[in-house]
Amino acid sequence: MEFIDLKAQYAVLKDKINANIANVLDRSAFILGDEVALLEKQLAEYVGVKHCITCGNGTDALVLALRAFGVGPDDTVFVPTFTFFASAETASSFDCNLVFVDVDKDTFNISPVMLEKAIKQVIKEGKYRPKAVITVDLFGLPANYDEILPIAKKYNLLVLEDGAQGFGGSINGKKACSFGDISTTSFFPAKPLGCYGDGGAVFTNNDEYAELIRSLRFHGKGSYKYDNIRIGYNSRLDTIQAAILIVKLDAFKNYELSERNKLADKYTEKLKDTVKTPYIPKGFVSSYAQYTLTLENEKQRDNLKEYLKNKGIPSMVYYPTCMHNQTVYKNYDFNLNDLKIAEELSKTVLSIPMHPYMSDSNAELICEAIKDGLK
Ligand SMILES: *Cc1c(COP(=O)(O)O)cnc(C)c1O
Repeated sequence: MEFIDLKAQYAVLKDKINANIANVLDRSAFILGDEVALLEKQLAEYVGVKHCITCGNGTDALVLALRAFGVGPDDTVFVPTFTFFASAETASSFDCNLVFVDVDKDTFNISPVMLEKAIKQVIKEGKYRPKAVITVDLFGLPANYDEILPIAKKYNLLVLEDGAQGFGGSINGKKACSFGDISTTSFFPAKPLGCYGDGGAVFTNNDEYAELIRSLRFHGKGSYKYDNIRIGYNSRLDTIQAAILIVKLDAFKNYELSERNKLADKYTEKLKDTVKTPYIPKGFVSSYAQYTLTLENEKQRDNLKEYLKNKGIPSMVYYPTCMHNQTVYKNYDFNLNDLKIAEELSKTVLSIPMHPYMSDSNAELICEAIKDGLK
């Protein structure tokens, strides 16, 4: 059994994907070919924003967004401590004041209450200017934008939605990757919408940000390729990856997102009386980048993981180490008391296999094994 079954997906989409790749090879337009522009148009439409700019990966997408915001050494960037390293790493690369914020224990996403507390603290200290918050749509669930956006407005904070895991999710019909001043996603193969290598995208309704990011991803180009008007990056999506993503986006829209949700509903129905299953607030839709259980304690979690492994069922701990406990941030000055929930989650969460091609019999097997393992 696979944790994320990319082979099963390829078996279904093979003819279309191969034809699209062959078409790119025949034309040999490998960088910024027609498929890239077409994909950007389709992605922007799906998400419901004016601009989509694809780039090399989801990490670069965050860097491009922070560059567009103009984050610098006098600024504070707030980041949830329970996330994938890139959300923090990219902010750190701007030498800004990084402040880690605790998460809500039910949604795993940044806590609006703790965010406001952290903003007030930074203002009180008076050393750095609160500049931006990187909200992460963890495991596919959009962050609590109903509460975060008013806080951002109140303190004049820019919102960078890290939707690397969130693509496809929504709140009352409004799609993930549309909530930030700039939003980003990743097409890493294991993400809800993945390509066959590295890829990423930036989304915004702001014309100036969009123009700037188009320039930045291509060596800071101006009116044409060899007119360089700023220091930029080489971060473009390959045409082949765009050609693959066009097929995969179609499948994602037509059935994959709903299949993910059907599997999640099945898991929840069968497991909710045994173990804490994911909490999806009213009006929210998750794209279930992960389906994550919360166990009672570390021992129970580790025992269950081992039990499942012996039954041939893969499971993963996302994430075993909070950002503030990463080696690189060892000498970091933060308030430990305020990061307790994330620390607890890192000891108790367990993600189980989740993908749109799961058979009913395997789903059944997984649920029975979890119930047995917890007896
Ligand atoms: C995967 C991921 C990224 C980075 O995306 P890459 O394409 O691997 O660079 C950033 N943030 C989060 C939350 C992620 O899960």
